[in-house]
Amino acid sequence: MKKVRVRFAPSPTGALHIGGVRTALYNYLFAKKNGGEMLLRIEDTDSNRFVPGAEDYIIESLNWLGIKFDEGVGIGGEYGPYRQSERKEIYKQYVDQLLNAGKAYIAFDTAEQLEAKRAEINNFQYDASTRAMMDNSLTCPQEKVQERIAAGEKYVVRFKIEPNEDITVNDLIRGKVVINSSILDDKVLWKSADCLPTYHLANIVDDHLMQITHVIRGEEWLPSAPLHVLLYRAFGWADTMPEFAHLPLLLKPEGNGKLSKRDGDRLGFPVFPLEWHDPKTGDVSSGYRESGYFPEAVINFLALLGWNPGTEQEIFSMDELIQAFSLDRVSKSGAKFDYEKGKWFNHHYLANKSNEELAALMAPVLKEKGVSCEASKLNKIIGLIKDRAHFVKELWNEMYYFFEAPTTYDEKAVAKRWKEDTPKLLSALVGFMATWDENISAKEMEEKTMAWNAENGFNNGAVLNPFRLALLGEMKGPHIFDVVEMLGVKETIARTQKALEVIK
Ligand code: GLU
Repeated sequence: MKKVRVRFAPSPTGALHIGGVRTALYNYLFAKKNGGEMLLRIEDTDSNRFVPGAEDYIIESLNWLGIKFDEGVGIGGEYGPYRQSERKEIYKQYVDQLLNAGKAYIAFDTAEQLEAKRAEINNFQYDASTRAMMDNSLTCPQEKVQERIAAGEKYVVRFKIEPNEDITVNDLIRGKVVINSSILDDKVLWKSADCLPTYHLANIVDDHLMQITHVIRGEEWLPSAPLHVLLYRAFGWADTMPEFAHLPLLLKPEGNGKLSKRDGDRLGFPVFPLEWHDPKTGDVSSGYRESGYFPEAVINFLALLGWNPGTEQEIFSMDELIQAFSLDRVSKSGAKFDYEKGKWFNHHYLANKSNEELAALMAPVLKEKGVSCEASKLNKIIGLIKDRAHFVKELWNEMYYFFEAPTTYDEKAVAKRWKEDTPKLLSALVGFMATWDENISAKEMEEKTMAWNAENGFNNGAVLNPFRLALLGEMKGPHIFDVVEMLGVKETIARTQKALEVIK
């Protein structure tokens, strides 16, 4: 068996879309599952669409997410260079191979001429039915062609597609896809204007030279696959043609149509891994990283958008994904982008981080708030509240009351919880707490208080609900005696007394 080799081959035309990240991830999982290799190739032959910064952005995004390459741009390797703009000479010889074999031809038609043809003929397509009426090396005498080229006239090289042939693409996800070659046009493979190939030629030549065994890419490339099959055959490489796997689309949360950046703007979630500053428009688009997502949560979330393990398991580390992944379990139909689920994953990973790690992540916030707190106490506090947030930035809102006594009390909660007998009950409680040791544990104080309530015939809720309100200002937070343990008996008494003064 040949060693599995896959590639992620983005074009640096802007920020990497989250769907592109999923493509990179599935390539990575497939390669690692099969003991194979993955390379990063930058497909930058279309200089009109080149966006500065996009390549760095792609690399930084995948680094952040822990999707690692064995070879490629920024790493090197024996099949380089891996940036297509640096492979000009390599492509030229393959273009010549096709020209010499009569499998491609030279075309001089200018943009204006093509425009005129389109205006003249309905649904004009440059193909077997029309090429004889165009300005190309099939209609122009050989010496004249050479003269025109020598004179510097611009031309393109087009692939000569034979009509009326059924082409089969065996897709590992979709099965057999058959299309008739007559629907294909004679694609431009190379342009003399910049001496660069187009995507189709460069893609096939590189997949061949880089010994790619599996092409795993988005569904939007499926229509190109029959052309790619024909190119492999034209080069005589049909035997080593990679296997194809076209991944299902990521759909809008509502399920109708392809997920777009606009959906993200409209519904308030990022569609890019990192914040993106568009160098042309100056627009800034939000990213998962800056929005507070953990990379492992994004990976887990994306892995399940289009693939399922066939079990109920939802939480997967990267290693577990590698073990579980297979292309057979990638679905044919599009995957709805459920960003609430993405948040849920982040919540899960947040709640499962160690208190120490979260304390470190909270450090800048605590500094800004002027909070200084002994590490062991801070860790305990974080442990009490960490399952109440989706993001680190929400943690402060769940813990500020450990550091700041309330100055106001939620009016609705007061109306509901602060009863006529509350002052009597809480005053009694203050008296009772005054007998406690400052270091009393939550468990001990709970037992004491329950017993004390029972003895005095007090209803637990009637005592503890307004007590919470007095300590925190609202009806929120973890178990009340855990709160008291963190505040300490003295502070608890002070806060209760303050509430008794303020709330009338
Ligand atoms: N350069 C193409 C892209 O931007 C690559 C498509 C493929 O993987 O063949 O997605």
